Amino acid sequence: MRESGSWDAIVVGGGHAGCEAALAASRLGMKVLMFAISLDSIAMMPCNPNIGGTSKGHLVREIDALGGEMGKNIDKTFIQSRMLNTSKGPAMLSLRAQADKAAYSRSMRQVLESEENLAIRQSEVTAVRVDDTGKVIGVETEYGAFHRARAVVLCCGTYLASRCLCGETIIESGPNGLRTAKALSGCLRELGFRLQRFKTGTPARIDGSTIDYSKMIPQYGDEWQTPFSFSTDPGSIQREQVLCYLAYTNEATHEAIRRSLDRSPMYSGAIKGTGARYCPSIEDKVVRFADKPRHQVFIEPEGESTNEMYVSGMSTSMPEDVQEEMYRSLSGMESCRLTRNGYAIEYDCLDSTELRLSLESRKWSGLFCAGQINGSSGYEEAAAQGLVAGINAARWILGKEPIIIKRSEGYIGVLIDDLITKGTSEPYRMMTSRAEYRLLLRQDNADLRLTELGHEAGLVTEERLIKVEEKKNLIEKETARAKKKALSPSVELNALLAERGSTPVATGIFLSDLAKRPELSYQILAPFDSDRPSLDPDTAEQVNIQLKYEGYIKRQMDQVEQFKKLEGKVIPEGLDYNCIKGLRVEARQKLSSSRPASVGQASRISGVSPADISVLVYFIANMGKA
Ligand SMILES: Cc1cc2nc3c(=O)[nH]c(=O)nc-3n(C[C@H](O)[C@H](O)[C@H](O)COP(=O)(O)OP(=O)(O)OC[C@H]3O[C@@H](n4cnc5c(N)ncnc54)[C@H](O)[C@@H]3O)c2cc1C
Repeated sequence: MRESGSWDAIVVGGGHAGCEAALAASRLGMKVLMFAISLDSIAMMPCNPNIGGTSKGHLVREIDALGGEMGKNIDKTFIQSRMLNTSKGPAMLSLRAQADKAAYSRSMRQVLESEENLAIRQSEVTAVRVDDTGKVIGVETEYGAFHRARAVVLCCGTYLASRCLCGETIIESGPNGLRTAKALSGCLRELGFRLQRFKTGTPARIDGSTIDYSKMIPQYGDEWQTPFSFSTDPGSIQREQVLCYLAYTNEATHEAIRRSLDRSPMYSGAIKGTGARYCPSIEDKVVRFADKPRHQVFIEPEGESTNEMYVSGMSTSMPEDVQEEMYRSLSGMESCRLTRNGYAIEYDCLDSTELRLSLESRKWSGLFCAGQINGSSGYEEAAAQGLVAGINAARWILGKEPIIIKRSEGYIGVLIDDLITKGTSEPYRMMTSRAEYRLLLRQDNADLRLTELGHEAGLVTEERLIKVEEKKNLIEKETARAKKKALSPSVELNALLAERGSTPVATGIFLSDLAKRPELSYQILAPFDSDRPSLDPDTAEQVNIQLKYEGYIKRQMDQVEQFKKLEGKVIPEGLDYNCIKGLRVEARQKLSSSRPASVGQASRISGVSPADISVLVYFIANMGKA
């Protein structure tokens, strides 16, 4: 094997995880080499052309607050932007932006290429090499070269031993016709990793010039577009936006699918990988929700410099002829032309319970894993893990403690803790229901929650940290002032209350009490509060949320204190669970294989009961006392 250069860190993968990992490690001063099978597919979006959405928008904001790139990159390249769930509470509010896929990839590549300590290389990594002390030492490539490194971050996505299925046609390939990564799975098995087989799918792409949009319902972007990045000036991103369209499947669509289900690799058994329950293919929807007469479909542009349209809600692996029939059955698509078939892709991924919360392998030190390879699904989930793995690879090289984001601090914490502590038997995608402290983990306050950690990690500037500290102080001061601000029951005030369908007041009332009323807010009451300081809209909204949800926020804060107590109970490394009397057999097995870092983490492992936790807490508290 020919030795070819030495690096601090090597990142295997140029997808959403790989880009964040490579940028984080190189911005922390590491000499980094990033490999990708094709440099023309950097930050490629092989599926939906959008970033964000419910809970995923939260992840993007958190990535940004920690010093990651995804938020800035989509602010530069979006073609439509919408705030979702505006009728729901602040915990559900989520930004989603339609991306120009080609522009997104191009822009991310420019960012990578302008990074001083970062080099990118097109080559398939065929093996990871470790030494006999259990440390990673580098990678080998298909060209017979060995690249030495002190840390390696695997971000191989949907490429490991992947194959694509469309009807009876099965192709050994990565997504979008790119090459598959043939060799690495074998090496990972030899290193003792347990691999799983997962699957995901994508719809066909349609030539937009063959669609009759007059038969569909246009979907408009927001008049005022909100940026993902806290460092993006909102005024600088306002632009003309493209339209998306709402359409529906119908009985003809469903019949075309039912008639050929035996030719679907999903139902013929050709597909072995496990798919995501929450991302069903159209054939799955027709079978599982047979009573539904129609399913929503969104027609979304893939970009501004192409006619290609993405058919969201109709991912499929049905045979080509059936696809043509089913897409042409939609109103407005009667004479549409497919540019690419829908397909399913099967690929290998790791069992994420074999990693630590730092995303380092428990078996091989210096080896980190991030993204789809860990069993997650989604650009945002991948980018979040990539950022954490990149930071921690650099910290590992520098002999520093890893950055661990708690479930109470961010969706990123929930994502990684779920993957590491519970593992996943299907592609894991983020949802708000997974976050027990979601009222505290809103997309609007990601900067207040995580900027300090981003600064501690070394990715966020002092200047940005100071700005956030000032914002925090302003919010605290103004919330306290508003709570003491009494409003008199003036005619004007009661006129406003009447106008808003709110009960008039007869006596003085605190501004904060009025702001709690669903039909009112801190902002609406501004005309009756001449002492208030002028705040930017984001800061004013923070004050509003603090006033409006005071009780709920307090309750969740109390729950977080309880959570932290258990998280703070560290389990000694290497504890032999078999010698703990009173612990049930199942709990011993689960704890021995998952090796949780804290009692809190242990309490989230399925099969470990509260009684087991009490035994464990007692045992740890009395260790060394006998
Ligand atoms: C067909 C399809 C449909 C999808 N549908 C959905 C969906 O509906 N919802 C959803 O949330 N997500 C979906 N996804 C998943 C989404 O694309 C991924 O979650 C996301 O891209 C993962 O990012 P990543 O960085 O982990 O990996 P990827 O974006 O897959 O990037 C992996 C990178 O690793 C490189 N690489 C891999 N192996 C090697 C090697 N051995 N040597 C060198 N380089 C290597 C590749 O070149 C690539 O740059 C879909 C993906 C595909 C392919």
